[in-house]
Amino acid sequence: MKLATIGVGNAGSKLIDRMIEFEVETGRNLCRHALVINTARTDLAKPQNIPEDRRVLIGDTHHKARGHGVGGDAEIGAEVARTDIDEIRRVFDDVEIHEVDAVLVAAGLGGGTGSGAAPVVIEEIQKMYDEPVYGLGVLPGKYEGGRPALNAARSLQSFVTKVDNFIAFDNDAWRSRGQTIEQGYEEMNEELATRIVTLLAAGEVDESEVGENAMDSSDIMRTLEVGGVSSIGYASTELAPAKQGLLSKFNESDQPESESTDAAKIKGLVRRAVNSRLTVPCEISSADRALIVFAGPPEVISRKGVESAREWLENAADTVDVLAGDDPRPDSSTLAAVVLLSNVTETPRIDEIQSQAVDAQNKIREQDAVREEEIQSLITDDDDDLDPIV
Ligand code: GDP
Repeated sequence: MKLATIGVGNAGSKLIDRMIEFEVETGRNLCRHALVINTARTDLAKPQNIPEDRRVLIGDTHHKARGHGVGGDAEIGAEVARTDIDEIRRVFDDVEIHEVDAVLVAAGLGGGTGSGAAPVVIEEIQKMYDEPVYGLGVLPGKYEGGRPALNAARSLQSFVTKVDNFIAFDNDAWRSRGQTIEQGYEEMNEELATRIVTLLAAGEVDESEVGENAMDSSDIMRTLEVGGVSSIGYASTELAPAKQGLLSKFNESDQPESESTDAAKIKGLVRRAVNSRLTVPCEISSADRALIVFAGPPEVISRKGVESAREWLENAADTVDVLAGDDPRPDSSTLAAVVLLSNVTETPRIDEIQSQAVDAQNKIREQDAVREEEIQSLITDDDDDLDPIV
């Protein structure tokens, strides 16, 4: 697939930046255009792989932003995006949209800029083009507290109703102990970039020189077209180096592997992809459609294995809509299986964020209601004997 990508806010921009880094490292060419949008000048300077003229500062004339961010206020994030929408549209006008299959908009949902401005940007892009617009959104960790949960729960509603599909990443599920927050984010961004690029870069070569088993962009788009929230699973295996000119194999044994062993390994890889940590933990059987991409040297991808892996997933996901195909990477030393579970409707973390958000909203309303009263009581003496000076 070929994408135009937009990172909104700090997390969104870092994710697009990391995706580009991963595709360069692995010789892929997924992100044909990249743009980052932010309300904070300092965050806009961080990406390493985005040209200067593809970084857009919004809200620099807004009295509550002025180039310093929106302080986690998603309403202001949305407001400044609406005010500066012409500027965003002007930068996006340079994108040759007919050269791409879809637009991907990434954001962290717990902050102010990504959660507020990204839905406004998506709405505008949906008006401008017919191509699908996909969302890539990071759900805040529980430990971040009520305000990020409230931003995320509200932003999720806007995102999911405006995009053609929303791929979720749960910071809570991916948090490791003994790391600083920054180290944690770096690792998470790498994991997410690996999954999303391995999945979406399949079918990036149009010409059918890649063979009949190759995944096509239209298969990925068909799987995503049901909308809703999606999750991605991933597993990979290192291939032994080629011996005496023979093709690489799964292991270093001198005996050539039998076809059934190769098939079992392919199926095992897919089971591992689905049963290990998904980008957002979910009930697999609640998926509407699913798709498997095998990325690696074509000669190690056993057809029999692909078919039995596909059948296994059809049962596990309880859907007849499971597609499987290859992303041939002849020079790769790994074989990866990436599984897209599209429109999963049972994701406990989203329910949890919603109830955390409702609690936060109630607390904010209570505080707003008693604030004036408490200030008055603080500055007034017990018998109300004193008068203000002016
Ligand atoms: P914004 O710039 O106002 O949109 O706010 P940020 O993007 O800085 O943060 C929004 C949310 O994204 C936070 O609440 C975190 O949950 C998450 N976040 C921030 N940075 C990263 C990152 O580098 N990786 C990941 N996975 N999550 C991040």
